[in-house]
Formats: sequence, C-alpha cells, structure tokens
Amino acid sequence: MSATLESYLTEVAQLKIEGRAYIDGTYVEAKSGQTFPCISPGTGQTVAQVASCDATDVDIAVAAARRSFESGVWSDLSPKDRKRILLKLSELILQNKAELAMLETLDMGKPINDSRNVDIPLVAECFAWFAECIDKVYDEMAPVGRSNLAMINREPVGVVAAVVPWNFPLLMASWKLAPALAVGNSVVLKPAEQSPLTALRLAELASQAGLPNGVLNVVPGLGEKAGKALGLHNDVDCVGFTGSTEVGKLFMQYSGQSNLKRVWLECGGKTPVIVMADCHDLDAAARAAAFGIFFNQGEVCNAGSRLLLHSSIKEPFLEKLQGWAKKMQPGDPFDPKTRMGAIVDKTQMDRVLGYINKGHEQGAKLIAGGHQARTDSGGYYIEPTIFDDVNNDMIIAREEIFGPVLSVLTFDEADQAIKIANDTHYGLAAAVWTKDINLAHRTARSLRAGVVWVNCFDTGDISTPFGGFKQSGSGRDKSMHAMEKYVDLKMTWVKLYP
Ligand code: NAD
Repeated sequence: MSATLESYLTEVAQLKIEGRAYIDGTYVEAKSGQTFPCISPGTGQTVAQVASCDATDVDIAVAAARRSFESGVWSDLSPKDRKRILLKLSELILQNKAELAMLETLDMGKPINDSRNVDIPLVAECFAWFAECIDKVYDEMAPVGRSNLAMINREPVGVVAAVVPWNFPLLMASWKLAPALAVGNSVVLKPAEQSPLTALRLAELASQAGLPNGVLNVVPGLGEKAGKALGLHNDVDCVGFTGSTEVGKLFMQYSGQSNLKRVWLECGGKTPVIVMADCHDLDAAARAAAFGIFFNQGEVCNAGSRLLLHSSIKEPFLEKLQGWAKKMQPGDPFDPKTRMGAIVDKTQMDRVLGYINKGHEQGAKLIAGGHQARTDSGGYYIEPTIFDDVNNDMIIAREEIFGPVLSVLTFDEADQAIKIANDTHYGLAAAVWTKDINLAHRTARSLRAGVVWVNCFDTGDISTPFGGFKQSGSGRDKSMHAMEKYVDLKMTWVKLYP
C-alpha cells in the first residue's frame, strides 16, 4: 500500500528523535546543559530539544577528532578497509532511508517525496562513490632521472571541520564528509541549527558501520557559537563550509585570526537561465525554469532565480510558467502529492516576504503568487512567485533570496543576455537554452560560472564537480576534485647512490 499523509503522520509521531551531540562515539549533552528548540517548519511545532554546543563542546570534539587521527585507527587503516566501512555506511543509509527522509522533512520542511527519492538516495550514493575511489587513486612519481626518486604523496590534512546549511541538510554534509573521510581525516561536523536531526542520526549509523570512535563527531549549535569556535580553533586543519557568502567571508577571517587553516567555500548564487529566441522546446524549458526556482521551495544555492527571456518568445513562455506556478502551490510536506513544502523557519519566510515587498517597491510587475500561504497550518509557506519587468539593478535581481521568487528579465541580443548574466558578484551556475550548437558553446564559455547547463537545468552526477566562481566560493564538492581539498601533498626526494 502506498504511503499517504495520514500514514506518514502516524509514523512521524513514533520517530525516536535524538538531539544530543555525538562526540567520540557516543551521544552527549552540551556541557552547559543548554538546548535550543527544533521547530518543524510544516507546523511551527517544537519537535525536539537539541544540544546547544559552544566553544567548550567544540574543544572536546576537536580533541576527540585529533586523538583518533593521531592514533591512526582510521588515517592508517588500509584503503580497502576504509572503503569497506564507508560502503557499509552507504548500505545502512539506504536501509534507514524511510526514517532519515522523515527526519529531514520534519526538520526542514521539504516534500517527503523529495527527501525519500532525491536527498537520501543521493547521500547513500555519495558515500558509496567516494568509498570506491579510495583504492583507485594513485600517488605520483616525478620524472627526475635515474639517480633520484621523487614521490608525491597525498596525505590527509588531519582534523576537518564541516559546517553546513539547512537546505539539503544531510546531502550537503555528505558532500564534505565522504571525501574528507575517504582520504583518512577525522571530522567535526556542525549542522545548521535549523536542521541538525539527520546529521545526528548519521553519526550513529557511521559507528554502526565500523567507523572508529572520534573519527566523526557532530556538534549541533548556533553559528555564532559552535560554528565560530570551529572556525577559530587552532587544532582544526581545514574547514569545508557550505552556506552564505557573508558567513563564508567570516570563515576566511577566522582562519587569518587563528592558524591559517585551509578554508573551502561553497556559497550563494544568483543563477541566470537564458532562453534564446531559437529554443527548440519551450515546454521543456518552461518546466525546467519552474522547477529550477520552485524545487525545494527555492532554497537552493543554484536556484535559477534570474530568467532571461528573448523578447520574441517571452509571452508564450510566461504563460507556461504561470501554469507551473499554479500547479506547484505549497502543501503539507508529509503529503506525498506535495511538490513544494514549507520555508525552513519564520525568519527565512519573513526575509523572502521582505524581498517580495522590495520587488513591488522597485516597480517589478507581479505575475504570480507573492503571498504567504497555508496560514492556518501554523507553518511557514510562500506561494510560487514570479516578477516580470525586472531589471538587473533591482534588489530582487542582485541579492540571493533563497525562496520561491523568480525575476524575469528580457533581452534582444545574445551578447546582451550574457552581459546581464555575468553582471553579478556570484558565479555558481548558469543555463542556456538554444538549438544552435555554436551559440550554445559560445555562451557556455562566456558565462562566468562553475557549472553551466545547456538545454537542461540542475542536472549533474556525483562524478562531476560542483562549486562556484567569484563570490560563490572556492574548491569543488563532488567528483575526485573534492578529495583534493582534504589532502596535503608531500614530496619526498630520495637520492640513489650508484
Ligand atoms: P548560513 O551561512 O547562514 O549558515 C551556514 C552554516 O554556517 C550554518 O551551519 C550556520 O550555523 C553557520 N554559521 C552561521 N553564522 C555563523 C558565524 N557567524 N560563524 C560561524 N558559523 C556560522 O547559510 P544558511 O542560511 O544555513 O544556508 C543558505 C546559504 O547556503 C545560501 O546562501 C546558499 O546559497 C548556500 N548554499 C550553497 C551551496 C553551494 O554548494 N554553493 C549549497 C547549499 C547552500
């Protein structure tokens, strides 16, 4: 029998929710005894109390990570054994998919079908893929002649702090954890305060898979406390951060103020989607544009939030888009029919509504949505919203809204579109729709973004790198390139005597 809203609500009521930190292989309260409420965005109800870790807890977690790293229980384990344990973890994630998906939806409000069919399977795939890489990456020998040996080895950096956001809580965490663990590091993970539940459960599954104590620690807590303490910690060797550009900049400062730890940033975006006059399939492009901004309530770093339409196709395109906006009205996140769920919390909802106001104030023309929805639910919902007649200087075209709000801009020449697309301090992703292969390539090469889609949107694979140009960040998640962030290169020169 397929699941229904009622059957999900029954199962959710029976979930055992863990809110304590996970340090050195066991759940512990924050030393201060402080907690913060975990509020479900679908209903506005408190569903758990979560340990509010601060600098003291971070010290304990970093010390556990350091001990485990220095002991070699993980860092010196044979590649085959590390692979076996991470593959087991991937299996356990799939075995516990239903529970993890419900925790994710309860915690951050995304539709249960997305948690079940997108997030959690991708998390399992991420661990399996990096596990498989472990015994396939070779070190190097430099071409320095017969009387010398110059070896170039990749060594784990040591203790990695992973600090992640709330929009894809477990997936963003796994993009850091899987490559960092695969190459032999110990990790302290700080999930976002809005969405700590799946990370806490993952830590237990990792122990069950055989990950030694102290190799993966999870410290839930506020950014200004737990996050800052990790950023400033002198015994953290590297930070893998995903979040806003604003906080990304803070992590670079923390590094400079402490031990010059390596900092890798996956930050915000303002993705342009360009539809050229000769787009061969307006239906597909309109569907992709709608999902590109309304999927995950628009809380996606690469959300296609600026739609650049050629004036000749604008009218039919907007009609199709408005049709999608109607179909994607927000619903209860636990209803399997829901395509758009709740905004993560009241603060974020108010922020998005504030941007909608700014759109009105600056003269953009509202053609869909624009209001809070499901106000009787107690939760935080916003209608799929589209503004036409936007110009690229307006605030809604410049700042990352991180909600279901689309800005439509118009152009007449391809070069004009490319110029507008690049006129942003972000550079995470971009898309272009055209059937002219020359125009497609030329545009793709001219767009200043880490990821470019041609005649599609938000497609990718764990084998392809993801990350941004400009203020969208540095370094890449996914693909073998992700492992480069968590290793240091060591060169050993051996003189061979005749
Ligand atoms: P955020 O920057 O507010 O928070 C991210 C993490 O940093 C959280 O764990 C938070 O607790 C912590 N933090 C917050 N303030 C801090 C401080 N002063 N010191 C140390 N740590 C602090 O971001 P968010 O609101 O959780 O997530 C949304 C942002 O994430 C958006 O900008 C989005 O574009 C970005 N994002 C980027 C990618 C990517 O791959 N490029 C992916 C997902 C999300």
